[in-house]
Amino acid sequence: MPTLPKLPRTKRDSPKEFPFDWTWVSGALQLLGEIGKLSDAEGGGLHVRSWSTNELWVMNRMAKVLMAKKLGPTVIKRSEDVLGQSYFLLEGTDPKAKAIELICHADTVKNGGNYDGRLGFALAASVVRALGIMKHRLRHNLLISCYRGEEADELGVGTVGSSVIIDRIKPAQFLDMKNREGTTMTDLLGREETLASYRARKHAKREGKPLPEPIFRDLNKIFDLDWEVLAQQRCAVGEVHIEQGRSMPMDTADGANPPFGVATCLAGPDRWTVIINGQSGHSGATPMVEPFKGESIPVRDLVSARQDALLASAKMQVIANNISRIFSAKKSLHRLTITDAEPRPGGRTQIAGMVEIHLEIRDIDTERKGRLFDQVKRAWQKIAKEEKVEVTFRRSASGGTVDCDERLIANSLSLAQYYDVPTRKMTCFARHDVANIMAAGVPGFLILTRCPNGSHLPNENVSEFDLAASFQMLMGMIMDIDWFFPTTQD
Ligand SMILES: [Zn+2]
Repeated sequence: MPTLPKLPRTKRDSPKEFPFDWTWVSGALQLLGEIGKLSDAEGGGLHVRSWSTNELWVMNRMAKVLMAKKLGPTVIKRSEDVLGQSYFLLEGTDPKAKAIELICHADTVKNGGNYDGRLGFALAASVVRALGIMKHRLRHNLLISCYRGEEADELGVGTVGSSVIIDRIKPAQFLDMKNREGTTMTDLLGREETLASYRARKHAKREGKPLPEPIFRDLNKIFDLDWEVLAQQRCAVGEVHIEQGRSMPMDTADGANPPFGVATCLAGPDRWTVIINGQSGHSGATPMVEPFKGESIPVRDLVSARQDALLASAKMQVIANNISRIFSAKKSLHRLTITDAEPRPGGRTQIAGMVEIHLEIRDIDTERKGRLFDQVKRAWQKIAKEEKVEVTFRRSASGGTVDCDERLIANSLSLAQYYDVPTRKMTCFARHDVANIMAAGVPGFLILTRCPNGSHLPNENVSEFDLAASFQMLMGMIMDIDWFFPTTQD
């Protein structure tokens, strides 16, 4: 691990003020947004499906933004891996030095906004642009990585591309994953043309020459990905992402009103698929309770004549929420959500014979997360007994907590103080690609920019001031990392 000495800010002689141009950033965001609108997004906003051609188009647009002449004398090299993830490299003065990696993503949820994922790109591009204007060359290489499949909509799991890179998701498992239409990644990626092939054909078309045959991805190369080699190429990693919640958790604490938060750790989600099996039947012909003798009977002694899985699932949702609220009463340290519940057969005259529920729990404390799940499970088993249904649990995802690098957190806070920008440390309750790279051993930081409307909505928004403040922070961090982390020439 390189040592990152804490130097007094005033003694630093690397630049402290950086050129930032709001119109340029909003122009870049708008350009990327136009591509997102090409796809079907009924209900407004963007929809760039993970692992789609559209996602590749956005990356091509990103390349255009980065390679535009306006960026000055900088040379950016673009490459892609076998998954089609794009890497943009700005060479430093010591080409053998490891890279400082900045992360972004091009995909969005359906009816998503223009900032989730793209903010990271727009600010990374602004860093390149500012370096060009300042004619300042970093010592380290700067690597802007655009990972695929960050959103969980398509495959049921998020940050998939970066997970494959670090071997958190095994290549074979990845290739078997299916998108919403049930197409496997083998089929989907196997049909994708490589970037080199795409470029060659585009070039031939422009020159009026006969088009060469397209070359598709060689998926066998997925098995050659070697994280140990890739990790060696990175000295630090950072991501600027919008805060996904509507308010910054520390907004109201002392009225500080911070434009961004500094993440201390990312609480990974655990997810369970819960199957409730009852008995389907006609909604008119199936009585509510077993017949009983006598005039009246207390409600608690009534025996249901149904095995209604939807009714059981509704009761389960209410009790899970109650348990979760009790856990939250003292400190808000976890999140519990039923993300969807699907009754089957689902007809208007049918009692639901089966319901599939998706339960998600996030907490930085793995032990507490386990305790919360155990309580919910016990309560659900009790309800299952009452409603004469069966309930089974299958864990579909488990994400541990990933800590940001303590030295980089301290450096962010001291930078913010230097710039006189109020900020706070915060827990990040969303998983981001940076967590994967950090979990695999690269020191990293995460800046969460305030997004007052919340994210995953068409009207995601970041103010000009907050964007400028986040840029200044990012730029300062890169300058410091470049300054403090050794190169091969030190
Ligand atoms: Zn995102």
